[in-house]
Amino acid sequence: MKKVPFVTKEQVEEMIKLYPTPFHLYDEKGIRETARNLYKAFSWNEGFKEYFAVKATPTPAILKILHEEGCGVDCSSMAELVMAKRCGFSEGEIMFSSNDTPLEEFTYANEIGGIINLDDVTHVKGLQEACKTVPETVCCRYNPGGVFELGNTIMDNPGDAKYGMTKEQMIEAYKELKELGAKEFGIHAFLASNTVTNDYYPRLAKILFELAVELKKETGVHIGFINLSGGIGVPYTPDKEPNDIFAIGEGVRKVYEEILIPEGMGDIKIYTELGRYMLAPNGGLITKAIHEKHTHKEYVGVDACAANLMRPAMYGAYHHITVLGKEDAACDHKYDIVGSLCENNDKFAIDRMLPEIEKGDLLFIHDTGAHGFSMGYNYNGKLRSAEILLQEDGTTRMIRRAETLEDYFATLEGYDF
Ligand SMILES: *Cc1c(COP(=O)(O)O)cnc(C)c1O
Repeated sequence: MKKVPFVTKEQVEEMIKLYPTPFHLYDEKGIRETARNLYKAFSWNEGFKEYFAVKATPTPAILKILHEEGCGVDCSSMAELVMAKRCGFSEGEIMFSSNDTPLEEFTYANEIGGIINLDDVTHVKGLQEACKTVPETVCCRYNPGGVFELGNTIMDNPGDAKYGMTKEQMIEAYKELKELGAKEFGIHAFLASNTVTNDYYPRLAKILFELAVELKKETGVHIGFINLSGGIGVPYTPDKEPNDIFAIGEGVRKVYEEILIPEGMGDIKIYTELGRYMLAPNGGLITKAIHEKHTHKEYVGVDACAANLMRPAMYGAYHHITVLGKEDAACDHKYDIVGSLCENNDKFAIDRMLPEIEKGDLLFIHDTGAHGFSMGYNYNGKLRSAEILLQEDGTTRMIRRAETLEDYFATLEGYDF
């Protein structure tokens, strides 16, 4: 599908009078629409809830918008838990899905009413130690091993992933937790990432629903919810079609009715923990072309770099680029679009066909609303950019200022800079 930025050149030209490039821009309208459609797609399930994966976009203004749309949050670290608490998320609105977990994080998650998702069977003891008594509601993360296939396509490789427990460990953990006083149980699994197919959730749901039936029979516990976690993806490349969340919701409903209802387990709530799907297309990185270089290749240097958006450097990920104001121009120039890090992987695009770019052109790098700003870092003395919210009424608001040199030097000890 043709990828169109959610802002025009004229809008961005107004913005850069207020905020220097580069900056991450988020679309409030798109975020709210995405959340509303997700809730509509799962409205057949009483108690459905999305726990937004904070790591994708740990920005309070964004979390508050999602909170207003009925979402909770999924946290994976102390800082994310503290942020959730300070943003006003309360009991039942926080999942804590972490791994290799320091015990004090269990203590804090429990204190603020978070639902704890155990990644390992040994964490049953850890949880008891950290919280004195185990919480009434506990979730366990499942890893079936092997490869995850859809049709005859291998989607991902859970057998090689560090997360979750085997089936035997799930049974053992449930039994122990029950003995220690837990009353309500959840099942969680994340088996494939960035899936651009309507079949991932239904397929995952089938695995988890069957497991739920088995766990109930083996251990006698009451299963209260099943968390399908993240993994619904977005079409980063124009040749892909976006997922149809309504088809996904219906697909899950079908398996729910096939497997859970006949077992008298129709009170199970469905939870999701989406990050990318909720936010990626609703964010863009705005950057300016500041340099051209003609050597063995044609380079366009921009004022953003991998420290603002790491995915291309880290995973070779494709992010679509629109040269603002040249949306309909012919893509007849081949460029590497690069940042200024002293690393040759600091390239937002390699051999990309784009319209002719002139110094001063504004580029919109698509789908950076999730795992964009959040993966930022300070390598090469690069400062983190601002984050700007395009509000529903068309005005903008700075929701995080850019870092300054003072921020960069703030943690040094024994130097007076
Ligand atoms: C990263 C993560 C998510 C979100 O994944 P997306 O691919 O962004 O949807 C959800 N749950 C857990 C436990 C995660 O680690």
